[in-house]
Amino acid sequence: MTNNTGWNFDNSYARLPEKFFLSQNPTPVRSPKLIIFNHSLASSLGLNAEALQTEEGVAVFAGNWIPESSMPLAQAYAGHQFGHFTMLGDGRAILLGEQMTPTGERFDIQLKGPGRTPYSRGGDGRAAVGPMLREYIISEAMHALGIPTTRSLAVVSTGETVYRETELPGAILTRVAASHLRVGTFQYAANWGTVEELRRLADYAIQRHYPGIPEGENRYLSFLEEVMKRQAALIAKWQLVGFIHGVMNTDNMTISGETIDYGPCAFMDAYDPATVFSSIDRQGRYAYGNQPPIGGWNLARLAESLLPLLHENEEKAVELAQDKISGYPKLFHAHWLKGMRAKIGIFNEEEKDESLIEELLNMMQKHRADFTNTFRSLTMEKPEDTVLSGSTEFTAWYGAWQERLGRQPESKDSSLELMRSSNPMVIPRNHKVEEALEAAGEREDYSVMERLLKVLATPYEYLPEQVDYCTLPDSSGRPYRTFCGT
Ligand code: AMP
Ligand code: MG
Repeated sequence: MTNNTGWNFDNSYARLPEKFFLSQNPTPVRSPKLIIFNHSLASSLGLNAEALQTEEGVAVFAGNWIPESSMPLAQAYAGHQFGHFTMLGDGRAILLGEQMTPTGERFDIQLKGPGRTPYSRGGDGRAAVGPMLREYIISEAMHALGIPTTRSLAVVSTGETVYRETELPGAILTRVAASHLRVGTFQYAANWGTVEELRRLADYAIQRHYPGIPEGENRYLSFLEEVMKRQAALIAKWQLVGFIHGVMNTDNMTISGETIDYGPCAFMDAYDPATVFSSIDRQGRYAYGNQPPIGGWNLARLAESLLPLLHENEEKAVELAQDKISGYPKLFHAHWLKGMRAKIGIFNEEEKDESLIEELLNMMQKHRADFTNTFRSLTMEKPEDTVLSGSTEFTAWYGAWQERLGRQPESKDSSLELMRSSNPMVIPRNHKVEEALEAAGEREDYSVMERLLKVLATPYEYLPEQVDYCTLPDSSGRPYRTFCGT
C-alpha cells in the first residue's frame, strides 16, 4: 500500500473508557468496485482523490485494507426506538478513525455495511447498493441545501449478495461526520456506565463540538443548552424544506447537530403535517408535523441522561434540566418563523406575520399544494402556476402579502433575492431518486444518478436545466413508501 492517499487518522474516541466501544475490523469483501466517489469532499478532507480511486484506494472503502493510522471500532450506544428503550451499538458500521484535515479539522470516517460487529444481534452487518446510494444522494442534497448533515464520500459495491426480502447486491458507504456521538451514546453511559464515565463522555463531546463552553459549575447545563440550540435550528431547517427524517429515534439524533441516518427519510410533496413515508411508522410518530415536538422529547432524554452531572441533589438536577429544556419550543419556533418569513421575502417583523404564514399553509393543505413548488412559484412571481390560484381566498392572501412587502424598507428585488436563497428550486424528489436508483440497480447505469446529483448540488440557482427535476410524481400511483434497516 502506497501512502499517498492522504489518510491521516487520529483516534480520540478510542481513548475514551473501554466501555464505549469494541475494536472490530471490517470483514473483507470479494470484489469491490467504486460506484460513486465525492471528489470535492475528498479534497476538502485533505485526501488524494486520484489515489483513492485506484484499486488500493478503493480497498479502504471496501474494508479490505486498513490504513496504518486507523483503529477500527464499533461504537456502543443505546436508544429509544419508537419510544422503547434498547441497547443498540454499531451493528453494521465501523469507525476507521478521525481524519485530521490540513486545516486541523476532525471528521469521523465510518464504513456503513462492513460486516458483523459484536453489536449486530441477528443482523448481517451488511448493506445493499440501493439504500447506500440513496443515503449518498440525499445527504449530499441536504448539504447543498445548507442543512447540517453527515456527508457521503464513496459507495463501493462488494460483489457479494445480501439477503433481504429478495437477493440484493451488497454495498458499503463511507460516511463522514463531525462525530457519531448521539443522544443514545449518553443514554448508554447513563444506564451502563459510572458517573465518571458519563463525565468523560460529556467532556469529550464538549471538547469536540462545543469548545467554547468554559469550565465551571454550569458546564454540563450549558452543554445541554447548546445541543438544544443546534437541534432546534436543525429541525427548523428540515421543516422549511419539507424534509421528513422518518426515524427520529434517540440513537439517530446527533450531539453535533448534524442530520444523521438516512433510512426511511423522504421529502414531502403536497403540504400536509400528517405526512409519513416510513412503512413501519404506522402511528405517525415521526410525521412531518411531529418532528419539532419529537426533537424536544429526544432532548428530554438527553437531559435525563445528564442529571448526575447537573447537580448532586437529584431533585435540584431535575429542576435545572426541566427549566433548560422548557425553552426548546420557543427556540424552535423562533428559527421556524424567521425561516418562514424569509420564504415569503419578509425581512423585518410584524405581529401578524405568523397568521399570514399560517393562512398560506392552510390553503396549501386544503388544496394539496406541492410544498416546494408553491414557494418556487411565488419566488418566480408566477402565482398563477400554483394550484391555489383562482380562489378568492388566495387572491385576498396575495394582496395582503404584497401590501406587507410594501411596508418594509427593503426593495422588491431584495425580497425576491431573499426568497430565492430560502426556497430551493429542486429537492431530491422521491420519484427522481427512485429513477436514479433503478438505473443503477438494474442496469449498473450510474449516469442518471450523476445527472441528478449535479442538479441537486445547486438547489438555489434556478437554472433552466433544473426544471425537469421539479415535476411531481404521478398522483395515480400508490403512496410513496420508504423502508428502515435495509
Ligand atoms: P437504524 O434504525 O438504521 O438507526 O438502525 C438501528 C440499529 O440496528 C443500529 O444499531 C444498527 O447498527 C442496527 N442494524 C441495522 N441494520 C443492520 C444489519 N443489517 N446488521 C446488523 N445491525 C443492523
Ligand atoms: Mg441509526
